[in-house]
Amino acid sequence: MIIEPVIGAVYRGRFAPSPTGPLHFGSLVSALGSYLDAKVHGGEWLVRIEDVDKLRCRPEHEAAILRTLERYGFRWDGAIMRQSERTEAYREALEGLLRKALIFGCSCTRKEIGDSTPGVDGASIYPGICRNSLPDGNKARSCRIRVPDRDISFVDEVQGVLTQNLARDVGDFVVLRADGLFTYQLAVVVDDAEQKVNHIVRGADLLDSTPRQLFLQQSLGLPPPQYAHLPVAVNEAGKKLSKQTLAVPLIDESPVPALWQALNFLGQHPPQELGKASLGEIWEWAMAHWSLSLVPKSRTAKINSEGI
Ligand code: GLU
Repeated sequence: MIIEPVIGAVYRGRFAPSPTGPLHFGSLVSALGSYLDAKVHGGEWLVRIEDVDKLRCRPEHEAAILRTLERYGFRWDGAIMRQSERTEAYREALEGLLRKALIFGCSCTRKEIGDSTPGVDGASIYPGICRNSLPDGNKARSCRIRVPDRDISFVDEVQGVLTQNLARDVGDFVVLRADGLFTYQLAVVVDDAEQKVNHIVRGADLLDSTPRQLFLQQSLGLPPPQYAHLPVAVNEAGKKLSKQTLAVPLIDESPVPALWQALNFLGQHPPQELGKASLGEIWEWAMAHWSLSLVPKSRTAKINSEGI
């Protein structure tokens, strides 16, 4: 059965960067796609700082990300939400799942499950060791959610229909980590619902996470949003541009060429001379011409990073 989104009267989109480094071209593509799609639908665009993993995030990166967004001409609606301030809401959600008997304590270390079959995103499929009870004498370290053995399907506005069986493709996944931090999967679902986000436009590196998020929404009684996953920018070697592959940070002082390149990457065919236009002019063109249907329908696309 295909899960239908609950769209609501007002389009609410968002950009949810993790402050683990400055913005780079890949994150600009997500920011731009989500912003333009919200604005051309007369919608709102929110910014949420995804610093749930406190160990990897830094306030100085958050400040740099917000400064870059402002310099590039992005204007967000409402107050910024920070996941580091939302622990109570995640705990409540976990308690709700516990009441539904969907959660079990798990004593497994990464090493213990490391040899299991890799799932859709490369992580091991949980082999179910603690699913029914903890092995004798073991203490729970993390909390996992029991996933169903049935197909979950949705229609992505860019990538088309995606179907996953969580039991087969992912396994029971962690919602509360051994170090006491809630996971991205749980936090993102709780926060999107709290912010009444009903359209999620983001990078296709998160496409395979979406069935987990739809399942969590269903389990928590939250409305599923519409999803659109944009291709992820990869370099000539086919590697995702990330801090690890040393993607060049965006230059705050010259937003127009990078915005031009991001529009081009998203299949919008900006005229060449727009690359030398003013910030106001490039935004005006982008707002007048944005079309999600022009975005390449692939999970990755190559970018020539010269000149960004
Ligand atoms: N925080 C995630 C990232 O920076 C994005 C999560 C999302 O858009 O759902 O990759």
